[in-house]
Amino acid sequence: SEAIASLYALLVERAPSPDKPLLIRPDGRALSYGEAHALAGRLARVLADAGAVVGDRIAVRADKSPEALVLYLACLRGGFVFLPLNTAYTDDELAYLIGDADPRVIVCRPEDLAGLTPLGERAGAVVLTLAADGTGSLMERLAQQGEVLAPAELSPDALAAMLYTSGTTGKPKGAMLTQDNLAANGLALIEAWRFCDDDVLLHALPIFHAHGLFVACHTVMLAGGSVLWLPGFDKDTVLDLLPRATVFMGVPTFYTRLLGDDRLTAERVAGIRLFVSGSAPLLAETHRAFFERTGKAILERYGMTETGMNTSNPYDGERRPGAVGPALPGVSVRIVGEDGAALPEGAVGDVQVKGRNVMKGYWKLPEKTREEFTQEGWFKTGDVGRLDPDGYLVLVGRAKDLIISGGYNVYPKEVEDVIDALPGVIESAVIGVPHPDFGEVGVVLVTSRGGIDEAAILAHCKAHLANYKVPKKAFFTVDLPRNTMGKVQKALLRERYKGLFMASS
Ligand code: ATP
Ligand code: MG
Repeated sequence: SEAIASLYALLVERAPSPDKPLLIRPDGRALSYGEAHALAGRLARVLADAGAVVGDRIAVRADKSPEALVLYLACLRGGFVFLPLNTAYTDDELAYLIGDADPRVIVCRPEDLAGLTPLGERAGAVVLTLAADGTGSLMERLAQQGEVLAPAELSPDALAAMLYTSGTTGKPKGAMLTQDNLAANGLALIEAWRFCDDDVLLHALPIFHAHGLFVACHTVMLAGGSVLWLPGFDKDTVLDLLPRATVFMGVPTFYTRLLGDDRLTAERVAGIRLFVSGSAPLLAETHRAFFERTGKAILERYGMTETGMNTSNPYDGERRPGAVGPALPGVSVRIVGEDGAALPEGAVGDVQVKGRNVMKGYWKLPEKTREEFTQEGWFKTGDVGRLDPDGYLVLVGRAKDLIISGGYNVYPKEVEDVIDALPGVIESAVIGVPHPDFGEVGVVLVTSRGGIDEAAILAHCKAHLANYKVPKKAFFTVDLPRNTMGKVQKALLRERYKGLFMASS
C-alpha cells in the first residue's frame, strides 16, 4: 500500500462520530474525539504563535494528563515533531537532551520551570507550562485562542516524533520517526490485534515511550475506540477498572504485580479480549501463572523506539511463552552471523529488521545511523535471537549483554532461565564482569522467596549448564534495579560489580 503523508489526516479520516469518548478518566469525566481535535487545532495555533514551524521539535515534559495527548495531536496536526521527555530524567539528562534536540518550544510542568527556563533560553526555545489538571500558561493562552491552525501539508518522510531510546545500553539516542513509520506500524497493529471501535483500552503506561504513546494510543485512535486514561500504573486502580476495559497493555512488571494480588481473578478479567506485554522479556513463569489464574494467554510482542513493533505472537494461534512471535505484516526479520551473512533457521545471531516501520535515522548522528543500517537497508537491532522453523522469533538477549568467557559466548538469558526454574528463586540477572584469567565471567544477582543459598544456585547451574556458563558468584538482592519501563539496568550492575575479580591498583 501507498506511503502515508500525514498521520493526523489518517486519524481524522478514521475518527468515529465527534461525541464518541476518546479519553475517559477514572472518575468518569471524558474527552470526546470532537473535543480533542478541536482543542488540538487551537493548541497547534498556540504553538505556531510561539514560533513553531513544520519540522520544529516541541519538547514535552508533562504528567500524563489528557492535555498531554491533545498536545501530541496538536503537534501531528501542525507538522511539529513531538518530543516527549521522561518525567524521571534528572537535571543533567534534561540538559543533555534539550541541548541535543534543540526544540523550538518546551512544554513543562510548573515545577520544572526553574530548571528548564535557563535550558530553554540556551536553546532559544519558548517555555510554556501545563499543570496536571490542565491549568497553566498554555491553557490560558488557549482560552484566548479562538483560531485553529489548519493541518499541515506533509510528505511521508516528514518527521512526526522524535523519541529518545531508553538508554539501557548507553546514552539515549534520538530516533527520528516519520509520518509513514508511525502510520504504517499503527495500521499493522490494528489488523494483527483486531482492534475495533468497541475497544476500551486500559492505559496505565507512561506516554514518553513508543509503548504507551504509539502502540497503545495509535491502535485505539485508528480503530475509533476509547481509552481509560490512568495517570500511571497503580495496581488497585487497574484492578478496579479492568472490568470496564477490553484490552490491557503492560510491561512485564505490571503483570507480576497484578499476579501478587488475589483480586486478579478469571471473573474480573472476563471482559478483556487481549492482554499485551512488551518492552522487556516476559518470564515464561509469569505467562503460565497468568494463564492459570485468568484463563488468558498474554500476547507478547517485540519492538523498539527505532522501529516501533517488529514481531507479535498471533491473535489467533499459539502465543508461545518465551517467544515474541513472527514478524508483523509489512516487517521482515532476519538473523545474521558475525560476518553479516544471513544464518539458517534455528541459528542464534544478530536480529535485523526492515520495513516501513523502521526510523529514518538517529538525530544528529549520521555516522551512528550509517553503522546501524546495512547497505540493503536492514536495521541492526542490537538484540540477539533465533528464528524457529515456523517463523517465531526467540530473543536470547542483547549483544551488549553477551558475556565472552575464556573465548566462549555465554548468553545471560540461557543461564537466567535455568536459575529462574529453581524453587525459591523469583528472578535473576546474569552479568559479565572483568576477570584476570577468563577476560570476563558471569555473576548472578538473585531475588528469592528464601530457602535457597549461593551453593544451591551454583550446584544447580553446574548440573544443567556447561562449565563455562556457570556463574562464578551469586548474590542475593531485594530488588533488581529497573528503569520506568521495567527493564533491568544491566549496565548499572556491571558498573557496580566490575572490580569483583580485579586486583585493586
Ligand atoms: P538503548 O537503545 O538506549 O540502550 P533500549 O534498547 O532499552 O535502550 P527501547 O527502544 O526502549 O530502548 O527498548 C527496545 C529494546 O527493548 C529492544 O531492543 C529489546 O532489547 C527490548 N525488548 C522490547 N520488547 C521485548 C520483549 N518482548 N522481550 C525482550 N526484550 C524486549
Ligand atoms: Mg536499544
